Amino acid sequence: MSWSTEAPNEMDAESRFREGGCRCGQLRFQFTGAPLITLACHCRGCQRMTGGPYSTSVTVPTGRFAVTAGQAVIGGVGDPAMHHHCPKCFSWVFTRMEGWSFVNLRTSMLDDPTGLDPFVETQTADRLPFATTGAVRSFKGFPDDAEWPELMKDYALASAGRAPWTTGINP
Ligand SMILES: [Zn+2]
Ligand SMILES: [Zn+2]
Repeated sequence: MSWSTEAPNEMDAESRFREGGCRCGQLRFQFTGAPLITLACHCRGCQRMTGGPYSTSVTVPTGRFAVTAGQAVIGGVGDPAMHHHCPKCFSWVFTRMEGWSFVNLRTSMLDDPTGLDPFVETQTADRLPFATTGAVRSFKGFPDDAEWPELMKDYALASAGRAPWTTGINP
């Protein structure tokens, strides 16, 4: 995938950050600035890996994401290597693939996920009957690569002014 990973709010990128970690606390990470988008995925793989009805993601450019403690191991389907887990408690903490310019970190791993509700939901064809996400945009499968820039623009507009990174959380 090749969309632009310019932050919608680059001025904040250096000064605002959020932290998160796995269930046991051995694997910790942080990211700075505004996300590119927030997601929920209803696919069967995400259901099985999370043990919940869907996975949640915050998408950030690779350069604004850092593992700050511990070292992730590859789990999930493993090939291609993309699902990064804690080596001790095996929480599925983030997804990153060779060649990606972004990381999808699990929203549920954040110490404070306030304001990062899913904006887009994917794979609703597999949605469990009781599962609702509150996402603004729904896709039966995944959006085409060409659709992401527009979705990110919509997300930036929708989150402007109400997101915690503009009001000084973890300043
Ligand atoms: Zn852990
Ligand atoms: Zn999925």
